[in-house]
Amino acid sequence: MGAVKKIAVLSVQGAFAEQEKRIEDLGAECIEIRQKADLMQDFDGMILPGGESTVQGKLLTELGMLEPLRDRIRSGLPVLGTCAGLILLAGELGGGEHGWLGTLPVRVRRNAYGRQLGSFHVREVFQGIGRIPMTFIRAPYVESVTEGVEILATVDNRIVAVRYANQIGIAFHPELDEDESIHKMFLSICL
Ligand code: GLN
Repeated sequence: MGAVKKIAVLSVQGAFAEQEKRIEDLGAECIEIRQKADLMQDFDGMILPGGESTVQGKLLTELGMLEPLRDRIRSGLPVLGTCAGLILLAGELGGGEHGWLGTLPVRVRRNAYGRQLGSFHVREVFQGIGRIPMTFIRAPYVESVTEGVEILATVDNRIVAVRYANQIGIAFHPELDEDESIHKMFLSICL
């Protein structure tokens, strides 16, 4: 693989264009993943963007992408899931909803802040980075983690960012704030 990192961005629904801009601004190349065949290419990491997890999950199922994607993640592909992307990765969803990829051993609750708090902005500490802006939009949070999952950030005692080996799941939208540190950190694990 060349010096320029190639990052695949799931582009079936949601905020994928914003993620691509971030990655390209940092000097990496993006490829859009819209169908199963796109997953057969070579790339160094993958971003699952925010959006609507139910729509994304159904599309991944219909397009036959759920299994190949799950296999690539299980075999070590670095992946960053933000908001809906975190929901897609979750091993379990609270409230009896069924999950999708199920590769990240945490339980995630969707739309977890209620309607009034649907969107909000804070500055909080992210492990290994420091205090950064965090924008939440009808966000989920992580209700519980299993052994081996590292907690990277909490807001009001709720877990909003985790890492499990090659998988990073974040409840907020780092692509909507100016701070580039999350994308830089992600690129650094995409070898
Ligand atoms: N509420 C959305 C869902 O359940 C996630 C929102 C987001 O990605 N900003 O999928």
